[in-house]
Amino acid sequence: MNAHAPAPLGATVTALPVPSREPGFGVYVHWPFCAAKCPYCDFNSHVRHQAVDQERYAAAFRRELAVMAGRSKGERVTSVFFGGGTPSLMLPETVAGILEAIAGEWAVAPDAEVTLEANPSSVEAERFRGYRAAGVNRVSLGVQALHDEDLRRLGRLHDVSQALHAIGLAREIFPRLSFDLIYARPGQTVEAWEAELARAIDLAADHLSLYQLTIEEGTPFHALRAAGKLIVPDGELSADLYQATQDLTRARGLPAYEISNHAAPGAESRHNLTYWRYGLYAGVGPGAHGRLMGPGGRHAVATERHPETWLRMVEDWDSGIVTDDLLTPEEEADELLLMGLRLAEGIDLARWRRLTGRDIDHASEADLAGHGMIERLGPDRIRATPAGMMVLDAVVADLC
Ligand code: SF4
Repeated sequence: MNAHAPAPLGATVTALPVPSREPGFGVYVHWPFCAAKCPYCDFNSHVRHQAVDQERYAAAFRRELAVMAGRSKGERVTSVFFGGGTPSLMLPETVAGILEAIAGEWAVAPDAEVTLEANPSSVEAERFRGYRAAGVNRVSLGVQALHDEDLRRLGRLHDVSQALHAIGLAREIFPRLSFDLIYARPGQTVEAWEAELARAIDLAADHLSLYQLTIEEGTPFHALRAAGKLIVPDGELSADLYQATQDLTRARGLPAYEISNHAAPGAESRHNLTYWRYGLYAGVGPGAHGRLMGPGGRHAVATERHPETWLRMVEDWDSGIVTDDLLTPEEEADELLLMGLRLAEGIDLARWRRLTGRDIDHASEADLAGHGMIERLGPDRIRATPAGMMVLDAVVADLC
C-alpha cells in the first residue's frame, strides 16, 4: 500500500474517549434479506428464493445516501452500521461500494466505527476478510444461544460449533467484536442461564448484547404462545434472569451501559450510543429510520419497508422516503427520555429543559425515586435504576 494514501474508512480504531457524552452522527444501512425467517422476528427481514441483484441494490443505496447527505450537510460521520436482515449475505464489494459512497458524501471521522451484523451460518473466512478490507472494523454476531436444542427452537440456521467458529474467525480478523444472546427462553432456569452466560463471557471480546426473548405480535411465536404451546419465563423468573445477568456481567468486567448492552469501558457501541444519546443519524435502505434536521427542526425520517418497492422508488425518485415528519418539542422530549433512560449514564436535564422549555415534573420524580425507579447522578442528571429500566415506558410516561 502507498504509505501516503489516506487510510480507508474504518481502518483506525480507538477506544471511546471516556467519559465522552457526544452523540456523534451515524449512518445506518439496512440490508433486508435473510436466508430464513426466525419465528420470533418482527424486523423488516424478507426471504427471497431467487438471487438478489446486489449491484442494483448497491446503486440504489448510493442514490439514497446522496439524498440523506444532502439533508445532513456539515455532519461528520462517527459510525456506520450495517443491520438487517442479514448483512453478512452482502458481498464484500457491495459493502465496499456503500462505504466508498459514504466517504464521498460526508466528512468521516478517522476513527469511525464501522459495524456489520453477521449470522454464524453465513460466515466464511473469505467474506470476513473482504469486509475487513472494505473498512468494517467491528462485527456483531447473532449467536443467540450456546445451546443446540434452543438454537433449533429459535429457528436459527447455525449450531453451537458454527457459532464458536464464527467467534474465533471474527476475533482473528476484526479489531472489535460483539455477539448477541437471547435469554428468558422457554424452560430456561437461572442456573442454566448463568452457566451459559459465564461461557459466553469467556468467549467474548469486550462487548455483549443480551436480550430477553420478547414475543411480538404477528410472529409465529406469538401464535404458539396464544395456543398454549410456548411457555416463556413469567414476570418473576424474568426479573431474576435479568438480575443474574446484571450481577454476572458486572462481576466479570462487562457492566451494562444500556438495558441490554454490556461493555468494558471504552468498548461501547458508538453507533447505538448515537441513538440513545439522541443524536442525529441517517438511515438508508428498505424500512430504515433516521433523525435529521429539516425545516422547523428535527425530523423523523423513514423509508419504504418492502425491498422491491423501495428499490423502484429509489430508481424513480432517488429515495424511498415515505415519512418525513417534524417532531414537536413534546415528541422530542419523550424520545430523549425514552432513549436516554436506557443508559447507565442517564440523561442531562438541562438538555431536556432546552428541548421542552419546561422542567421535569418534580413531584413525579420524587415519587419514582421513592419507589426506587430513578435516581439522581448529580444536580442535573437522572437515570433509571435497574428496577426502573424493567418498566421504562411507565417511568417515562410518569416523568413527562
Ligand atoms: S436472522 Fe435476524 S433479521 Fe433475519 S429473521 Fe432471524 S432474527 Fe430476523
